[in-house]
Amino acid sequence: MATDTIKTDALIIGAGPCGIFQVFELGLLGIKSHILDSLPVVGGQCAELYPDKPIYDIPGIPMCSGEELIDALMKQVEPFGATFHLGEEVLELTPQDDGSFIVKTAKETCFHAKTIFVAGGVGSFQPRRIRLAELENFEDSNVHYRVRNPEQFADKDIVILGGGDSALDWAVALAEAAKSMTIVHRRPEFRGAQATVDQLMALCDSGKARFVEGKINAFANDGEKVTSVTIAGSSGDEVELPVDALMAFFGLAPKLGPIADWGLDLNRKTVNVDTEKFETNIPGVFAIGDINYYPGKKKLILSGFHEAALAAFAAKALIEPGKKVHLQYTTTSPVMHQRLGVETEN
Ligand code: FAD
Repeated sequence: MATDTIKTDALIIGAGPCGIFQVFELGLLGIKSHILDSLPVVGGQCAELYPDKPIYDIPGIPMCSGEELIDALMKQVEPFGATFHLGEEVLELTPQDDGSFIVKTAKETCFHAKTIFVAGGVGSFQPRRIRLAELENFEDSNVHYRVRNPEQFADKDIVILGGGDSALDWAVALAEAAKSMTIVHRRPEFRGAQATVDQLMALCDSGKARFVEGKINAFANDGEKVTSVTIAGSSGDEVELPVDALMAFFGLAPKLGPIADWGLDLNRKTVNVDTEKFETNIPGVFAIGDINYYPGKKKLILSGFHEAALAAFAAKALIEPGKKVHLQYTTTSPVMHQRLGVETEN
């Protein structure tokens, strides 16, 4: 085993609401965890798909937005000092002879974990790609689906495809420093915030940006990078645009991805579990939240919270075999108060 392998009692794959709450339930039982997500932010669907929309069915909270729920969960798990590894997609899970697991990510981070909690929701979110044959060969050079380092685009001919918030935000943010900025969308109406649309139109009026209505239908390259793209308008007219950087923001699509290859008993795009421990067919691997299936399963956040509590008790029995796991109340348990970092009232 490599010397920089991270050892942990519990490894949670997926930092959506259920994965975050798993940190809490494990923490109450004295188990410290590491938690991973392929996205650069926590919150899963709540953060990616509906941060501003109201949720009305979290017990005890009459209404909160997706973002508020994730903020509250993050506050709730603070006392337990979990380590969050964001922007890390888990690729491999390999059971070891002693019942533990080696887990590897796309960035080659390696974990040795006693128990695994798969909280992968509907899978890891991947950017929707431009559907043009062989364009994927240029993703390591000048075709981008995320912007990591905005400075690298100064003084470049930039073409941005898409009509939502990300496309608009980056067009506005990068236009001033770019050599040229063209935003391409198949309709004249954008889906993003009106304030950003107004900023973009002002940049177009001042000649700092240009809007082209249409769809990409071809590209040219010099073997190393894309050099130009052809945009087809609805009336069949074509425009060729020079390219130093081609960016596409078509949104994110969930993909079960590597989870499908770990030997788990799958049920379409979900993982079969029992309803006592929410354990999969591999002992020591639990699955909670939207990713699991059992008769009667409802893909609701509150279902995942319940599953996290029972899976934590089952994991405790594996991590400390032979030790009885008692149910304690957070209201009255001094040991839980200690773990939560709160004072016990006498
Ligand atoms: P997710 O939120 O899907 O999070 C899973 C995380 O795992 C993701 O961040 C993903 O990137 C990560 N992941 C997956 N695979 C990997 C991998 N291999 N490596 C690393 N990371 C990985 N539910 C309610 O209860 N009430 C509501 O009102 C409600 N409203 C909703 C409104 C909308 C528009 C939508 C889309 C859903 C709504 N839901 C609601 C459903 C709710 O959001 C889900 O039940 C909940 O998000 C499931 O949480 P989760 O933690 O299981 O998974």
